Amino acid sequence: MTGTGAAPDGLDRTGSRQQADEAGLAPDRAAGTAVPPGSGWPDDPATMATPVAHGADEVTELARGSATMAELAARQSVCRACPRLVSWREQVAAHKRRSFQAERYWGRPVPGWGDERPRILIIGLAPAAHGGNRTGRIFTGDRSGDWLFGSLHRCGLAAQPTSVAAGDGQRLLGTRMAAAVRCAPPANRPSPQERDTCAPWLAAELAQIAGCVRVIVALGGFAWQASWPVLRTAGFALPRPRPPFRHGGEAGLTVGAAARPVLLLGCYHPSQQNTFTGRVTHGMLDDIFARARHAAFGDLTPGS
Ligand code: SF4
Repeated sequence: MTGTGAAPDGLDRTGSRQQADEAGLAPDRAAGTAVPPGSGWPDDPATMATPVAHGADEVTELARGSATMAELAARQSVCRACPRLVSWREQVAAHKRRSFQAERYWGRPVPGWGDERPRILIIGLAPAAHGGNRTGRIFTGDRSGDWLFGSLHRCGLAAQPTSVAAGDGQRLLGTRMAAAVRCAPPANRPSPQERDTCAPWLAAELAQIAGCVRVIVALGGFAWQASWPVLRTAGFALPRPRPPFRHGGEAGLTVGAAARPVLLLGCYHPSQQNTFTGRVTHGMLDDIFARARHAAFGDLTPGS
């Protein structure tokens, strides 16, 4: 454990505050670096007292020790376990894209978001540098999110057709989203080590929703591949051999002592490359989420 704020349990609770102090800035004057936890950002799940993971072992310890989804999200949102990703997300937050110069960037890990007892979980790759890393909410404030939330709204799984900023009133209905890697990576490519270091956050999230989730949608091949070992860790039974990722591909999982069925669905990621080239269309996304809704809710209304 490191850090000047080590508490009796050995966990450092001063991540962003320490960073701001080292930079000679008070937390509220640390514009351009990560948002200090508990400083008023809409829906910020953390406070200055939230323990910070500084390495893979601490991620595992804090993820397993999170009693609630709220505690888990808070701990995810202050994690500093991957030096390259911490440096990148804060660098992006400091330098910003020209069109967002006037905005404060979140610059922290982007935790899972949505219904705490979902029937549908959507797993993506990682936050976008100027999307989730700017707004603090997954798939929020970028083109991929525009496509995704548009489809979720048409399929009755999101309250609004767009998701532009934390605190914009958007809600997921019976649905939750999480990223396989919670920090924006350079070139959208986390390393295998970063993927593995982050995996316990996703495993703990899956374990918390194992009693209610009916459908898991993996957005893209990375999320599909990354999900398998994490699902196993979280207690899901997986088919063998592992089917390859494909759009519309399905795999039947089970979970719990009663072997309750859970459907794993593959979906192309609505990245700009995929949507510009027509590899993904609005209709293709709608087909996936209509299938997910039907499998998860039948004739029920999501979120009711
Ligand atoms: S990628 Fe995951 S494990 Fe690595 S610093 Fe971000 S939240 Fe922590």
